[in-house]
Amino acid sequence: MPQPKALVVGAGVAGLATALRLKGRGYDVEVFEAAMHPGGKMGEWASEGYRFDTGPSLFTLPHLVEETIASVHSKTSDYFTYSKHQTACAYFWEDGTELLAEGDVGTFSKKSADILGGNARAIAEYFSEAAKMYDITKGVFLERSLHRWQTYLTKDVWKAIPKLPTLGLFSSLHQRNQKRLGNNDKLVQLFDRFATYNGSSPYLTPGIMQMICHLEHGIGTFYPHGGMSSIPKAMFNAGKDAGIEYHFGQNVEKIHVENNRATAITVNGNLHKADVVVCNVDVRSAYKHLLTDVSTPKNVVKQKPSSSAIIFYWGIKQQFPKLDLHNIFFSEDYKAEFDAIFSQDTLYEDPTVYINISAKVDENDAPKGCENWFVMINVPADSGQDWDTLTQQAKQFIIEKLNRMLAVDVSALIETENILTPPLIELKTSSQGGALYGSSSNERMAAFFRHANFHHKIGGLYFCGGSVHPGGGIPLCMHSARITSDLITNDQL
Ligand SMILES: Cc1cc2nc3c(=O)[nH]c(=O)nc-3n(C[C@H](O)[C@H](O)[C@H](O)COP(=O)(O)OP(=O)(O)OC[C@H]3O[C@@H](n4cnc5c(N)ncnc54)[C@H](O)[C@@H]3O)c2cc1C
Repeated sequence: MPQPKALVVGAGVAGLATALRLKGRGYDVEVFEAAMHPGGKMGEWASEGYRFDTGPSLFTLPHLVEETIASVHSKTSDYFTYSKHQTACAYFWEDGTELLAEGDVGTFSKKSADILGGNARAIAEYFSEAAKMYDITKGVFLERSLHRWQTYLTKDVWKAIPKLPTLGLFSSLHQRNQKRLGNNDKLVQLFDRFATYNGSSPYLTPGIMQMICHLEHGIGTFYPHGGMSSIPKAMFNAGKDAGIEYHFGQNVEKIHVENNRATAITVNGNLHKADVVVCNVDVRSAYKHLLTDVSTPKNVVKQKPSSSAIIFYWGIKQQFPKLDLHNIFFSEDYKAEFDAIFSQDTLYEDPTVYINISAKVDENDAPKGCENWFVMINVPADSGQDWDTLTQQAKQFIIEKLNRMLAVDVSALIETENILTPPLIELKTSSQGGALYGSSSNERMAAFFRHANFHHKIGGLYFCGGSVHPGGGIPLCMHSARITSDLITNDQL
């Protein structure tokens, strides 16, 4: 019997992962990618002896990448290796308070209570509650389709249902943090920042997001050897060796639907027939450009985008011993910052600045005595703002803040520079508005409104990636690939 043919549109992490899983289940798989390289948002840039990952910098749940590669190759270390990073993040406040946060919950709880003035036991309890929330909900919200009735018959769902009222769906993350951690602004701000993991506001996203801190501290943060871009490279290499055909620089023009079934795609005017089409393109973009004969579901139109970012990639000709792999310089008014992003669609004048320095782990990423700074602030998704002006302002705000907080002249240290803005993110990846994580999780029921991993009315048409269930970020994209490939194989039985 001939192998069923699966065509994957887009080689973002979820597209690459779905391709591997389908190949492992006997599909004949081809991947069509508009860019010249795999990885989508997980790009790479090098200049003057500095190397930068241009997209994600924080890596959690590495076993999901291993599991995916293992679907075609049993010795995953042939393709992908990583190490645990012992510290989670270095935090800095304007009044000079500094906290190098250990990954380990016990050490972190004690140290943060000492430095920030909180209660170590309350912090440790907050983490154990987060761990429980994660365990209860992952089988329901992250690992299965929320859009198939069979999910609601599983043991995990029945176990989770009675506990749902305790999971913070009815308060914001910020309110929950205040209640759990007391009247301690710095501690609350530190735990509020986990809302940005999926591009949301702590003042709007529900308290269930408390579970995110468990990823960073309970489970840990990791560094892939060779940098973040080694993740898509590893999946691409494993797929190539397993016989997947990849086509780069190939912009898919249309997904064809006949008699309520996806039948083919068009690339450069050529028709490629398929039994199954998997769309890894941002779902709003896909309906607009590829599924032009299909109406866009109302939820897709209604959902607000996650935040986007302005990123400066700076080669810095100095080393800063107190900086770590991940660093956060907090805004003095977090509420005003998130209001600016999500209510006023603009920048805040005192933005929280995130700096990632991969050279702290891999010294080859910067010349001797230097550091590769990935400097990012959260901004709204593009809705027509004047990004040239906003980017200039962002640079000025960031430099003033870092000069103040690190007591240096940052401008004088920059040897090389590159910049990424929301419109550029959209241009490079077709992610609408340059949203980093698809739609935002600012609404209580956001998980249910996100697009399903399949089309309800069109057979053979599936979706994976950060803009569909279960959401954005590498771990969720890996979950989405598994859910999508499971649906495909079950539907074909
Ligand atoms: C600056 C930045 C920082 C981030 N930080 C983190 C982080 O620290 N940790 C984390 O976990 N996540 C982070 N994320 C989010 C993470 O990168 C995404 O959630 C994830 O990479 C999305 O993967 P995806 O599979 O949805 O596809 P995408 O990366 O969106 O890729 C989609 C692919 O489809 C291709 N495509 C689009 N249209 C077509 C077409 N017509 N034909 C063919 N191909 C097409 C695009 O070229 C692209 O390669 C960050 C993202 C950005 C941009």
